[in-house]
Amino acid sequence: MSDCLFCKIIAGEIPSSIVYEDDTVFAFRDIDPQAPVHFLVIPKAHIPSCGAVTPENSAVVAHCFEVISQVTKEQGIESFRVVSNCGEQAGQSVPHLHFHVLAGRDLSWPPG
Ligand code: 5GP
Ligand code: ZN
Repeated sequence: MSDCLFCKIIAGEIPSSIVYEDDTVFAFRDIDPQAPVHFLVIPKAHIPSCGAVTPENSAVVAHCFEVISQVTKEQGIESFRVVSNCGEQAGQSVPHLHFHVLAGRDLSWPPG
């Protein structure tokens, strides 16, 4: 999608600190980290949010979680949180499905 921030990051039109990339998934450091480790894992296909996952596109969501498992292992991260905000009230500010991976400090629960 041409006017989507994360599609532009995937295309390299906006620079990012890449953590992982393959044919279908991209991961990069969050520009405003909320923890010592904070990166985003996103499908390259433009899926607006968790609310737009269907049987037709869900394989890439499973792959996002494989990437999360692989990258955290490679980085020696044993404890981490995965968050996906869906919709404005939940705090979603970029309408391209993304999974926040947060680690490196105590994380409170429940979230605010
Ligand atoms: P959301 O608020 O939709 O759950 O998460 C969007 C995330 O994208 C935020 O944590 C925000 O800091 C991050 N973000 C917004 N713009 C950019 C950018 O241009 N580059 C990077 N690396 N992260 C961004
Ligand atoms: Zn997009």
